[in-house]
Amino acid sequence: MLGGTFDPIHQGHIATAKIASKALGNLPVAMMLAPYARLRNPAQATKEQRWQMVVLACQNEDMLLPDSSELQAGETTRTIDTVTQLGGSQNNPIIWILSDDAARRLPQWVGYEDLRQRTSFFMFDRIGADLTRLREDFEFVSQPRDLMRRAGCIYISNESTPAVSATEIRHQCARGIVPTQWLHEDVRRFIIRQNLYVL
Ligand code: ATP
Repeated sequence: MLGGTFDPIHQGHIATAKIASKALGNLPVAMMLAPYARLRNPAQATKEQRWQMVVLACQNEDMLLPDSSELQAGETTRTIDTVTQLGGSQNNPIIWILSDDAARRLPQWVGYEDLRQRTSFFMFDRIGADLTRLREDFEFVSQPRDLMRRAGCIYISNESTPAVSATEIRHQCARGIVPTQWLHEDVRRFIIRQNLYVL
């Protein structure tokens, strides 16, 4: 699973999901829209607009499955509820794909202790974050497939991912340029049609 606010979804998200899927033996990846931003600024596009962009971005990607579980679950749903609902357990964990900028905030998430019992993480080194706390709480494994065996593990991928963020894309849009290289063409057209991210 790759969770995000996807405001908007971009090639960084798609690339990371595909790298992780391949490393795990071509497992499908649930692209889980987080409709309500927590521990960060509110999203600019509505949750419905972001969902439409996720669907557009994944339309030609066999292994990437748009997932609206949290969209349907309502505002009080937390990640731990989603993981529990999807059946994540100690011996059959959900493998969550995320980068270190998101991972360093994990200890602040509601249900952190429970999450460790149900989830393992496929992590990308995006910003060189300090992972001291996570090193105390998780087992760092050397093979991606070790993540499937038990919860509470982290694998760090050394594959590089596109140096793009949704923040940068929103800034470019606000300056009147909707970038081509980081967005699926249909997502780019959607942003223009809906007049998203203009000031
Ligand atoms: P924003 O700039 O608005 O914070 P974002 O580009 O980081 O957004 P999110 O939807 O917040 O996108 O991210 C979902 C997950 O994808 C997070 O774990 C995030 O760190 C990761 N991610 C986003 N972009 C990249 C990238 N270029 N390379 C690797 N991981 C990424």
